[in-house]
Amino acid sequence: MSKKPEYKTRQQKQKFYKSSAWRGNKSRKGVRQLALERDNYECQECKRNGLVHVDSKKIEGERKSIELNVHHLKEIYTHPELALELDNTETLCLDCHNIIHDRTMDKLRKIKEERENKPKTKKKVWDDERWD
Ligand SMILES: [Zn+2]
Ligand SMILES: [Zn+2]
Repeated sequence: MSKKPEYKTRQQKQKFYKSSAWRGNKSRKGVRQLALERDNYECQECKRNGLVHVDSKKIEGERKSIELNVHHLKEIYTHPELALELDNTETLCLDCHNIIHDRTMDKLRKIKEERENKPKTKKKVWDDERWD
């Protein structure tokens, strides 16, 4: 019985994020752990922006206080088959993770808005700015 996994509902997602395949267990590392180790416990988005913290400057223990998430580049909602692919994961700090998801949401919202109310944005912009 091999049913294709689905992570569409909150429950299904929760189940996945709690699974030992993702979180690991005493005898085996989960994909989450492998992703963190591969990324050296550093937020990859911060790194891309040149914001990665230099370890030598770090206060002892601070590193642990940074909350890291392992993000799926392709969401498990749309790509359940990639849920446990290490290549589909990326370590992000909580801030970047939120930003990335917001950006995706924003994009979707904008597309939706544009579809729903097309004109509206064509306001009398020039009149407002005219001084003469
Ligand atoms: Zn970050
Ligand atoms: Zn994510």
